[in-house]
Amino acid sequence: MTKGMTKGTVPFVMCKKDGHYGRKRKNRTKGPVPFVMPEPSVIASRACAAWQSMDAAFIVGGLSQPIAMHQLLPTSCELCPRVCGVNRAVGERGICGADDTLVVARAALHHWEEPPISGSGGSGTVFFSNCSLHCVYCQNEPLSSGRAGKAVSVQRLAELFLELEGQGAHNINLVTPTHYVPQVIEAVSLARAASMSLPIVYNTSGYESLATLELLAGVVDIYLTDLKYASAALAARHSNAPDYPQVALAALKAMVAQVGEYRVDDAGIMRSGVIVRHLMLPGQLTDSQAVIAQAFEAVGNAVCYSLMNQFTPMPACAHYPELAAIVTEAEYGDLVAFALDLGITHSFMQEGGTASESFIPAFDLTGV
Ligand code: SF4
Repeated sequence: MTKGMTKGTVPFVMCKKDGHYGRKRKNRTKGPVPFVMPEPSVIASRACAAWQSMDAAFIVGGLSQPIAMHQLLPTSCELCPRVCGVNRAVGERGICGADDTLVVARAALHHWEEPPISGSGGSGTVFFSNCSLHCVYCQNEPLSSGRAGKAVSVQRLAELFLELEGQGAHNINLVTPTHYVPQVIEAVSLARAASMSLPIVYNTSGYESLATLELLAGVVDIYLTDLKYASAALAARHSNAPDYPQVALAALKAMVAQVGEYRVDDAGIMRSGVIVRHLMLPGQLTDSQAVIAQAFEAVGNAVCYSLMNQFTPMPACAHYPELAAIVTEAEYGDLVAFALDLGITHSFMQEGGTASESFIPAFDLTGV
């Protein structure tokens, strides 16, 4: 348990007008909380269509059969929009820092995601090491830099999924998996063959190529995706990715087309669809409003929106004076009010005081 956290604490609450953050404004009608839960649905077990279309030589009958990692890796890596072209199969590293190994830093129940993801039992979260985006304010820097983590086999990754299911997880939550997509597809197939039935959550920065998303059709049930910037200049300064705005927006549309509308079951647990997360940066209300407006124009209320105020200045932010602050209650309130005024019906916001390193899990190989 991370210092300062209580098991079961969920920092997200439904967005509501006239609430803690939703500010009263002229012409706003009083009434019930506008959050409307979508119609309940229960998702059927899904066949792993993408896996079935892959080379049969990779198919194995059980978790004990070894799989050569290099067989799964691209010889000219274009898994993400960085398109480094390095030969991962022989151990070369691209911008993400990943080579021919699969590195995991933590596999444990996580109680601090959005309520439809964490539920009461927790999300079976697997934190992967390395990252293709490298935001200067990264909240998980030991992870994204590759400093934390342990090399595991594809079989071990499948075992982690099964162990998390045994612990009562509502889903398998893959955090920053983009650079390991081939191994993830393989591991999900193995776990499915061993009767794992949990939905797969693909928890991403949003910087995804359409070709890689196509590989995930039939594998992923839920996309938990960031939408960070509308401004190319901001994306360039903070993530060295000026193409992030159009890339992430195109990826969001593809995700919605692939997994459909946001759906939860009778217990309020998400079974399929997309949650769009936006981490507000200090002093960037205008860009945050543009992000939400563009997303709403693109996919409307087919998705659930999660507006986050937990930005925490990390040591690397010392070189970026504009990132030395936290998000103020006033600017966050304005963003929540803006989102609700757009007509967003499914949304979560964070309660005050979430800007704290105590919400960052320990990447200490727990569960690995
Ligand atoms: S996954 Fe890594 S190596 Fe491959 S293109 Fe992206 S950053 Fe480059």
